[in-house]
Amino acid sequence: MGLKETLVLPVARHWISGVNMDSALKDARAANSKGIGVVVNFLGEEIKEPSTADAHAKEYVRLQQALADGGIRGFPSVKLTQLGLAINEEEARRRLEVVASNADRLGQLLWVDMEGSRFTDATISTYLEAHDSHKGLGLAVQAYMRRSEQDLKRILDRGGKVRLVKGAYKEGRDSVFTTRDEVRQNYSKLLELLFKGGDGFAVATHDSVLIDKAKEMAGTRREGFRFEMLKGIRDELKAGLSKEGYKVFEYLPYGDEWYAYSRRRIGEHPSNVWLLLRSLF
Ligand SMILES: Cc1cc2nc3c(=O)[nH]c(=O)nc-3n(C[C@H](O)[C@H](O)[C@H](O)COP(=O)(O)OP(=O)(O)OC[C@H]3O[C@@H](n4cnc5c(N)ncnc54)[C@H](O)[C@@H]3O)c2cc1C
Repeated sequence: MGLKETLVLPVARHWISGVNMDSALKDARAANSKGIGVVVNFLGEEIKEPSTADAHAKEYVRLQQALADGGIRGFPSVKLTQLGLAINEEEARRRLEVVASNADRLGQLLWVDMEGSRFTDATISTYLEAHDSHKGLGLAVQAYMRRSEQDLKRILDRGGKVRLVKGAYKEGRDSVFTTRDEVRQNYSKLLELLFKGGDGFAVATHDSVLIDKAKEMAGTRREGFRFEMLKGIRDELKAGLSKEGYKVFEYLPYGDEWYAYSRRRIGEHPSNVWLLLRSLF
């Protein structure tokens, strides 16, 4: 085991389930026992080798089966570049077809993560094409992207399902809203579109201002949408929403590629560095 694994992995377990599927299934059962559903992600992105992309697709099929066999309330979320989108779009579509067909067979939903803006067009077109024959397929839309209002309208027109997030990638200033207030404003605007015309959508944020907005828009409604949050972040809020009768799901990542994911979590909330440092001394 290298230095990174010895020093950082124990802290990273705050946000990731562990390096193998068993650890994710264990966390999934624990979440379910508290009334919280799970969205499980096998970590990996921008795969360069077709054989690795094949292995990732197989891992998702295994994960879907394990969730079904374990009677777990939850489903996976996949990145298209881990199915090979960055090397060959057609092959990535074929692999998505395998995973999405398996989801249908098992009666599960399947989310597609949204990645950096280089992949937005290809991700949306791949998603829309697959969604025509797999209605349980949903796609993340990032509120920090200026283009997202148009994208969301296009997806909703085709009956797509959406998970609304703020967005986690470093992007050029021209393509994104840069201040916290602007991102919040756009998130609220897109949320309104979802409450008007969406079904089975997810409000994926830990931001109390936006969660309160969503609750206001929902009124007495509890069906047709859910709150989704990441593992290890705002656990009391998750429990509180669940108690109020909202559907709450937790995003559980697992796998060897935990380092890049953890860096992203630390980057968006620098106080997590203290969590890291505290564990070292
Ligand atoms: C279920 C789910 C799926 C996601 N899928 C994608 C995706 O497909 N593509 C994509 O680009 N992004 C995705 N994201 C990440 C998202 O884009 C944001 O980067 C992330 O959720 C932080 O934004 P926020 O809305 O919570 O708001 P923020 O303003 O970042 O946070 C609001 C509050 O939440 C708490 N908080 C937030 N992050 C942390 C943290 N790391 N550690 C400790 N406290 C924290 C703090 O109290 C903070 O004040 C996903 C997020 C979730 C919840």
